[in-house]
Amino acid sequence: MNEKVLVSACLLGAPCRFDSRHCKDGVLERQFAREGLEPVPFCPEEHGGLGTPRPSSWIERSSAADVLDGRDRVVSAEGEDVTPQFLRGALGALEQCRSLGLKRAFLKERSPSCGTCQTHVDGVRVEGPGVTTELLRRHGIEVTGVEGRRE
Ligand code: SF4
Repeated sequence: MNEKVLVSACLLGAPCRFDSRHCKDGVLERQFAREGLEPVPFCPEEHGGLGTPRPSSWIERSSAADVLDGRDRVVSAEGEDVTPQFLRGALGALEQCRSLGLKRAFLKERSPSCGTCQTHVDGVRVEGPGVTTELLRRHGIEVTGVEGRRE
């Protein structure tokens, strides 16, 4: 049986980015076919209740870890506190992994939810994971960052 893996829905072509676009990654899809992996699409921000399109968002001051630990917030470009939606989305991703027995995730780099090596704090790109990635890693899910290559 193919291994199922969690994948940022936008990487599979779903138009769920804040600007209603996707970032379908053909290289990733060919990798899945080659390695016999079955992608399970998931968008934490839509799951958390944020509509599409939506204003861009970022971690307010410090890090995803601080957001999870209640020491920081996620805010939108319009100044709205969207921390509850981001936490709901991250928990939804974890629940999806648990219910389907997923051990690995491939998530979109640089997002405040899905980023793995880079995310956004105070509107600026910085080193560090997004909120969903941080939560999945805390629970032993292996998360790989994906750029969203169009070829
Ligand atoms: Fe949704 Fe994550 Fe893609 Fe953003 S990067 S649109 S939160 S799946």
